[in-house]
Amino acid sequence: MNDTERRNELISIVSGDVTFEGAHSPEDLHDESLHVRPRTPLAVARPHSSAEVAELVRWAGRHQIPVTPRGSGTGLSGGAVPVNGGLVICFDRMRDVIRVDAGDHVAVVQAGITLRELNEQLLGTGLHYPVYPGELSGSIGGNVNTNAGGMRAVRHGVTRHHVLGLEVVLMDGTVLKTGGPVVKSSSGYDLTQLIIGSEGTLALVTEVTLKLSPVMSFAATMLVPFSDLRSVTSVVPTLIASGLAPSILEYLDVLTMASLERGTELKLGVDPTILEQTAAYLIVVLETRTAEQLENDLVAAAGLVSDAGALDVYVLEGAAATQLIEARERVFWMAKAAGAHEILDVVVPRSAVPTFLEQVADLATHYGAFVAGCGHVGDGNVHMSVFQPDEVRRNELLLELFRAGVNLGGAISGEHGLGLDKRGPYLALADPALVELQRKIKHVFDPSGLLNPFRHLDERDGD
Ligand SMILES: Cc1cc2nc3c(=O)[nH]c(=O)nc-3n(C[C@H](O)[C@H](O)[C@H](O)COP(=O)(O)OP(=O)(O)OC[C@H]3O[C@@H](n4cnc5c(N)ncnc54)[C@H](O)[C@@H]3O)c2cc1C
Repeated sequence: MNDTERRNELISIVSGDVTFEGAHSPEDLHDESLHVRPRTPLAVARPHSSAEVAELVRWAGRHQIPVTPRGSGTGLSGGAVPVNGGLVICFDRMRDVIRVDAGDHVAVVQAGITLRELNEQLLGTGLHYPVYPGELSGSIGGNVNTNAGGMRAVRHGVTRHHVLGLEVVLMDGTVLKTGGPVVKSSSGYDLTQLIIGSEGTLALVTEVTLKLSPVMSFAATMLVPFSDLRSVTSVVPTLIASGLAPSILEYLDVLTMASLERGTELKLGVDPTILEQTAAYLIVVLETRTAEQLENDLVAAAGLVSDAGALDVYVLEGAAATQLIEARERVFWMAKAAGAHEILDVVVPRSAVPTFLEQVADLATHYGAFVAGCGHVGDGNVHMSVFQPDEVRRNELLLELFRAGVNLGGAISGEHGLGLDKRGPYLALADPALVELQRKIKHVFDPSGLLNPFRHLDERDGD
């Protein structure tokens, strides 16, 4: 079969919704990793159904063409970056809500729907999908494959806690359903949970059954300045133990907050004498069913942070509160604009965050780097923007930062995934027996090794 015949097969599978080398949109060729990697796939195909996805992977298998699944391309680790000469399967034509069962608190959606679209479609049901990775244009399929977390994980958990079932296409074209609209099952291996977080290396996710949560009617946001970073991070276990169940617990160091104020419309209104002493901020969001409970919870939370040495407590409501959370979502773009060389998302046990941040400061000094930070401190997930132009020194520093996190009982990535960026450090630090077992699992799902190669745990280098 010649090249034209192969291309014609692809055109017919997706009814013409495919581009070929030379005609790709640049938007389909990258994700939001800070590392630019120009790649030229043979084709970017946009299937409209699971049956078309199955036909596409059969085509790829026949012609031995690597496949890269792609949601919205907002990932931060290079997971959706194409392979030269490969096939990109982009899910943005599969974004329907198939059904919402309000009684069961379940929604069944196609993988390409974005978080923003999903929550818009749930308006008026009294329910929402509470997982809140900062980038609402990300797709549910991408969220599933990175096990996305975000700001609300401290109360609601991460993506894997809200996925009840999947429809997936395996590399031989088999279409399978795992799990279902039930909250428990003790029937065979839990393949749903195995595929979640697999970064598009085990199967193509076409449909997701999600658990929804009731919307809380009352909310308030506390902005709490502290004079040192250790106090901010040390108060977190106390707030969690209090049972107040904050839905957001974020920290920002003063430099990160100052850059947000400069780069956005954000006006915090912090008293200048307090500002002079501030080294870092804690953001606490409380959500309740009644106004009275909100008032009581605010008083209790203010007492706890004051006892822990807060310089002041500001309670923001309505637009001011929304503005602060939206500004927090922009930290990645501000760091990128400021020329950050790396953005990391190491996770450690939440009680170890103060120690970890002290080790980060020491390592940054040792390697002549500048590291600014913020993060989902309620779940021990520290986001660091690393500035060190010398690549060799930077890579040494990164490995030591990852090692420090792992030695404290944590992991290299809490939510962004390994992708291309963190594959090397993961393989350098992980137990070889664990890597070997995972590679055997990968081989069962994808014996030809064509699905999303050269990243995650792949032993092969390639482009
Ligand atoms: C400003 C900004 C803020 C962010 N904040 C957060 C945050 O707070 N928390 C967080 O967790 N993440 C965050 N992210 C990262 C990103 O939004 C998430 O990783 C998201 O889950 C990616 O979704 P996507 O659809 O863009 O996936 P993509 O980038 O397209 O793909 C991500 C991975 O999933 C695979 N994949 C995608 N769709 C499928 C599918 N249907 N089947 C099989 N594999 C698939 C890809 O191959 C790739 O490996 C942020 C990103 C940005 C730009």
